[in-house]
Amino acid sequence: MTKAVYPASFDPITCGHVDIAERAARMFDELIVGVYSKPMKDILFTAAERCQLAKIALAHLPNVRVEPYTTLTVDFAQTYGAAVIVRGLRAISDFEWELQLSMMNRSLMPNIDTICLMTNQEYSFLSSSLLKDIARNHGHFDHLAPTNVVAALKQKFGSGNGDHR
Ligand code: ADP
Repeated sequence: MTKAVYPASFDPITCGHVDIAERAARMFDELIVGVYSKPMKDILFTAAERCQLAKIALAHLPNVRVEPYTTLTVDFAQTYGAAVIVRGLRAISDFEWELQLSMMNRSLMPNIDTICLMTNQEYSFLSSSLLKDIARNHGHFDHLAPTNVVAALKQKFGSGNGDHR
């Protein structure tokens, strides 16, 4: 049985993340989406909220489960018996960081490899931070996040008039 993990902060999960998870779910028997609970950056949603948002957004994928984690990603992968870490690549700017991360992870645990899936062109400009900025400023973002995430962001920031298209 082939297993992979898809680790990230998911603060919150976006359509770009969902697209990567859907494609990875077709490549592996089981995909464990790892919600990193204590990232070093400012976060908007609690770990429990981020997990719940991701669970609902990925509920249509039967071979995908969502689990929180606080350890090193390689330890998380090993705990679930996964030999592959999945990441997404949007632009050259992502590449340097993803390369460094994958090499560090391989130096920590050589039997775990990283694969990067190229973003869907539709979401190549999308990040959780930008999504939060748009929501905070009451822009229109319904097409960029799963419906439950759109609702959660509107609850946090208010829905505004949504006319900034
Ligand atoms: P983290 O801060 O934990 O890296 P992110 O949510 O910023 O979490 O990103 C997690 C992973 O998902 C990264 O590999 C990133 O490149 C990828 N990712 C984020 N947004 C997109 C997107 N729009 N398209 C493809 N991959 C994405």
